[in-house]
Amino acid sequence: MIRSTVAKVDLGALQANFRAIRAFLAAERGPSGQPPQVMAVVKANAYGHGAEPVARALEAAGATMLACADIEEAVVLRRAGVAVPILVFGALSVSDLDGLFEFDLTPTISTPSAARAVEGAAARRGVRLGYHLKIDTGMNRLGFRHDNLRRTVPELLSSPHLHLDAVYTHFASADDLERTLFAEQRVRFESALATVRSLGGSPALVHAANSAATLRDSRVWYDAVRPGLMLYGIVPPPLAATIPLQPVLSLTSRVVAVKGVRPDEGVGYNWRFTASAPATIAVVPAGYADGLDTRLSGRGSVLIRGRRVPIVGAVSMDMLTVDVTGMDVEPGDEVVILGRQGDERWQQIDAREVAAEIGTIPWEVVCRIGTRIERQYT
Ligand SMILES: *Cc1c(COP(=O)(O)O)cnc(C)c1O
Repeated sequence: MIRSTVAKVDLGALQANFRAIRAFLAAERGPSGQPPQVMAVVKANAYGHGAEPVARALEAAGATMLACADIEEAVVLRRAGVAVPILVFGALSVSDLDGLFEFDLTPTISTPSAARAVEGAAARRGVRLGYHLKIDTGMNRLGFRHDNLRRTVPELLSSPHLHLDAVYTHFASADDLERTLFAEQRVRFESALATVRSLGGSPALVHAANSAATLRDSRVWYDAVRPGLMLYGIVPPPLAATIPLQPVLSLTSRVVAVKGVRPDEGVGYNWRFTASAPATIAVVPAGYADGLDTRLSGRGSVLIRGRRVPIVGAVSMDMLTVDVTGMDVEPGDEVVILGRQGDERWQQIDAREVAAEIGTIPWEVVCRIGTRIERQYT
């Protein structure tokens, strides 16, 4: 049995995006310099695309390192057979570090207390664990502050059971062309790197760039870049990319009912839409429980029979309604919520467009696609 609303995930497109990003890095860096590695970011169930198949496809395409948000996510990947190094970005719960050792994961150490906890856990096991040191250069979230490293990192660097594999930072506003913080963070990071090195740290790897930073400034590529969104074929707004990226996920459904509405009758909860003339409404079995934001009510559109039709009335938990007046629409007709239905530009709806319509970011649009929706892999 399968529901009408499904997310099709094109693993070939994912792999093509990965290769296109690698080719872009190699071309820009030129024949003289080694291009940076691509650390593929697969946190949050691979941005809603499904962590296990996505991670395996990226590994098959040549990804040499993956990254996810926490130990639990990383364990899922190991259990799925992923063999390449996996970096855990997030703060470590100081109480449960077993997974790091059992599943051969690479932690980020971003606070002195986490440093002590991981050192203690490694010492108890009699092993030496490689880690990535995170520097806070202006995000003011996780990471050792860039401006007092001389006080905070020597203890970590001298931990006998820990090994500094990499140093990294994260940009707060790589997608904001107006703000100068991006450039300031780069300068702070470089001075922090110099400090770490002067204290005896010699990381084999330095990395900083998410998708937006990768697109914006090759000076922040260092030894590896960390794209997430771009891998899934979505360019972080408002940036543009010359990399040929294709959307990986499409979300489709089928019309379950078609209904005539008379003038002055409304549709759905609170009659958020009222017909001024005889109207035809198609009912689509996908709602906010599937991650379709209620703000799409009266705002977004879907594709049916190659045409854009407006979402009218409230998006409810399990259904939405679209205005197909004047069209010959029948139950069973395909509905494209994200993806394409034809070759014209207007026959494509992407996560960027949906995000702009409802005042959010494309990361949220894909991450919120619900667990009720089956992912089909091709
Ligand atoms: C999520 C994340 C990324 C990837 O960000 P995108 O904007 O999706 O490319 C990179 N680095 C860190 C630390 C992250 O948390």
